[in-house]
Amino acid sequence: MVVYRVAHDKDSGKPLNHMHTSIAKAIVGDWGMKAASDAVQIFGGYGYIHEYPIERFLRDAKLGQIGGGTSEMQRFIISRILSYF
Ligand SMILES: Cc1cc2nc3c(=O)[nH]c(=O)nc-3n(C[C@H](O)[C@H](O)[C@H](O)COP(=O)(O)OP(=O)(O)OC[C@H]3O[C@@H](n4cnc5c(N)ncnc54)[C@H](O)[C@@H]3O)c2cc1C
Repeated sequence: MVVYRVAHDKDSGKPLNHMHTSIAKAIVGDWGMKAASDAVQIFGGYGYIHEYPIERFLRDAKLGQIGGGTSEMQRFIISRILSYF
């Protein structure tokens, strides 16, 4: 829901809520990584070798936890905003 909320706000041209964007970024990064890791597991050896695209999905998904603000930094932002209350 928070991912859709942020996307809707962005599409509507509304100012983005920093806590919502950090929650969305952290969730998308972590769940994308879990989905890619599960795919490797399901494909077994074929998920690991270069002949199939699955191993690439795992590396690409990892960027979601690193690029554009790491998952740790998103959690840091969320905790800092919560500490204001
Ligand atoms: C393929 C790729 C494309 C990229 N493209 C761009 C781009 O177009 N534009 C751009 O500006 N940057 C880009 N980057 C850089 C990317 O944004 C940085 O890699 C990212 O911000 C992490 O910074 P860092 O690599 O210096 O890691 P560091 O800051 O050295 O962090 C290393 C690890 O320590 C953790 N960490 C650091 N400080 C803390 C802390 N205080 N508390 C807890 N954990 C902490 C981090 O979460 C991370 O896990 C790209 C990176 C990659 C891999």
